[in-house]
Amino acid sequence: MQLTMIGTGYVGLVSGVCFSDFGHDVICVDKLPEKIDALQRGAVPIYEPGLDDMMAKNIANGRLQFTLDLNDGVGSADAVFIAVGTPTRRGDGHADLTYVYDAARDIARALKGYTVVVTKSTVPVGTNREVARVIRAENPDADFDVCSNPEFLREGAAIEDFMRPDRVVVGIENDRAKDVIARIYRPLALREAPIVYTDLESAEMIKYAANAFLATKITFINEIANLCEKVGANIQSVAKGMGMDNRIGGKFLHAGPGYGGSCFPKDTKALARIGQEHASPVKIVEQVININDDRKRQMTDKIMYLCGDKVKGKKIAVLGVTFKPNTDDMRDSPSLTIVPALVGAGADVHVVDPQGRKEGEELLPAVTWVEDVYEAVKDAEAVVVLTEWNEFRAVDLKRLAKMMKDPKMADLRNIYDPVEAEEAGLQYISIGR
Ligand code: NAD
Repeated sequence: MQLTMIGTGYVGLVSGVCFSDFGHDVICVDKLPEKIDALQRGAVPIYEPGLDDMMAKNIANGRLQFTLDLNDGVGSADAVFIAVGTPTRRGDGHADLTYVYDAARDIARALKGYTVVVTKSTVPVGTNREVARVIRAENPDADFDVCSNPEFLREGAAIEDFMRPDRVVVGIENDRAKDVIARIYRPLALREAPIVYTDLESAEMIKYAANAFLATKITFINEIANLCEKVGANIQSVAKGMGMDNRIGGKFLHAGPGYGGSCFPKDTKALARIGQEHASPVKIVEQVININDDRKRQMTDKIMYLCGDKVKGKKIAVLGVTFKPNTDDMRDSPSLTIVPALVGAGADVHVVDPQGRKEGEELLPAVTWVEDVYEAVKDAEAVVVLTEWNEFRAVDLKRLAKMMKDPKMADLRNIYDPVEAEEAGLQYISIGR
């Protein structure tokens, strides 16, 4: 199959590379010259484990190309995937669909022959029908169908998720388009990945409902963690005991500093907005959004409390700023609330993150960036764990405590054992234990 990806970010690039690995011919388009320039040189502009090798292999096979010019790929494509960003629109919490409709107009002008236009971006219910309307208005003669194919990959495990998905969701309206999509996903179907065919509206809703549910699960366990601290229970035992119930499941039951990232914050807001617009508010999700916002402030209070409510002039080491490990993505990371609050209170913050520096330098300008945990903690009066990178789990706590001026630790990801931390000489607090 000949495929074109519009948008070469986390989703567009990973999907494009994986489709080329299936054996399809893929052209990836982006409007950012520096991104396409890097990709044409074989450089991967994001950090995603395994992506560089798979990309290099498929470029070498001649199945994967990158271009700034959408006309290079759309005319000859069996399917064109829209994988552009759908960030929160300023002011009202709705998904900003400008990039999606701009892409639809560009695609419309370049269409030749029958093509399936597939929306991979996360979009509110009704968007795919509007994409069809936009294309028809721009090019009344175009021979096309639209398809909703939301993506569920997780940054940090994106290739594995794309290659071995729990399911592929396809919203589609006729057999001609279904046949094209079935051929594209045939390699996954052969591996028995379930493919859920449904209507456009349901496919669009599945993505928002799934993300809002996961955000709710995280928020629920965070609230239970707060209560555990008051009653003397241990959130890790509680989560383990709960998660063993198959109806609940153990995933997304890790208490922490609140969810962040490129999807949950914006998708929960968009779903709440969709509910309000249809006079059917999703009150549980509205609550989740508020609780998660408060949580980041609570985490700052926790760190301040550990420091005797005074951080002015104190060196504080922060381990990790990306919203989760194995990514360089900083979008809506809890660190973007917590670190500026500490800086604002006068702390001298030193940050170490295996991949976050490139993005983080601009977003967290008033901090000192270092490359090594021990350098970060030297003479510090507190250390705060914000992201559970594996590199941090292996730290020698005794050595760390000895290097600090005042050995205090706020472990907001529960990566250390409280007994070991205290034995190492740290005054240690964590979440829900
Ligand atoms: P991103 O911001 O990393 O990438 C979007 C890319 O699209 C950018 O490189 C941008 O330059 C490009 N672009 C925008 N308009 C364009 C146009 N008209 N022509 C060509 N290129 C254009 O975004 P992302 O994280 O990959 O997310 C894309 C979509 O997928 C979003 O709707 C998101 O909600 C959804 N999604 C993301 C993830 C994730 O983990 N990042 C997971 C599942 C779904």
